[in-house]
Amino acid sequence: MQAILAIMVVMVALFAVIKAPSKFNVINREKVNEIVREDVGINNEAIRQVDDFQRGFNERSGQFVAVVSSTSGDARATSTVKTETSSVAKKEKEQTVSQEKTEPQPSSSEQGASQPAADPSNAEILGPVNSYKSIFSANKEKVPPAGESAHVLRSGSGKVLITAPHAVNHIREGSTKIVDYCTGPIAKALSDLTGAHLLYLNYYSRDPNYYDDTSFKEALANFVPSNNIKLVVDIHGAADSHGWDVDLGDINGASLLNFKDLASVATGFFNQYGIANVSKNDFSGGERQNTVTKFVSEKLKVDAMQFEIARKYRCETDEQTAAVIKALKRIVDKYK
Ligand SMILES: [Zn+2]
Repeated sequence: MQAILAIMVVMVALFAVIKAPSKFNVINREKVNEIVREDVGINNEAIRQVDDFQRGFNERSGQFVAVVSSTSGDARATSTVKTETSSVAKKEKEQTVSQEKTEPQPSSSEQGASQPAADPSNAEILGPVNSYKSIFSANKEKVPPAGESAHVLRSGSGKVLITAPHAVNHIREGSTKIVDYCTGPIAKALSDLTGAHLLYLNYYSRDPNYYDDTSFKEALANFVPSNNIKLVVDIHGAADSHGWDVDLGDINGASLLNFKDLASVATGFFNQYGIANVSKNDFSGGERQNTVTKFVSEKLKVDAMQFEIARKYRCETDEQTAAVIKALKRIVDKYK
């Protein structure tokens, strides 16, 4: 009996010894977890801020840099910029999460692998487009101020240059030709979204899609060879009455030296975004005119294509404007 009691006492004692440190461990683990959570929180916050900054820089480089540099002495204004970009980042994250939920893993096919997981939201596209509209409409009848060029060249990255030679009113044979409406904002937003280089007509002047002796063509001749440009995406606008949504001009194939299948690739991307009626060489892009496309392919020996976009896809409805920019983004991304 005494022996049994002794064994029981020993067992109770052993139990107490085992139990005590395990309780201690649980408490400590919780504390450690808490500290780790806080640390991770701080790290995530730091990573998020860096991401936001990078994203803001990449996507709205011109605009973002301009705001930061003009407010560099004002910490409050700078932090406002950060807040704005972080809310955009949050939206992007939300969108990515919802797409992950609704869309299975992309398939290995070319089409599937480039499904719109990387598509910007309509708000991210239309925000910049709308903000640029007023700038282009303010400049469309102004001659270049003293010391300023008629064009703007914005150096970006990659091998694609986006051009918009009819972004403002221009002169042809002594008459004023009206701007290809909204091609300036579309080209600029497209450059923001892709990081691609950008060249557009910024002030009322001689038509660079008609005359070769313009500062615009001079900029092309200097920039294209020295920046290893492989494709010029030339953005234009035409009336809805032609019957197509987009017309691709490659001078009946002559303006494509390397990317012979660009028209079919581009058509595929437009179709994917509901832009069904894509025509080819209704506007040839330079058969009888000294166009940007002709100049780039003939004189600079670099591929170029003229994208004539019907009016209804240029800042008439949000859906159609966003669709055409998403499709153009896919094209630029593929070749950049
Ligand atoms: Zn045009």
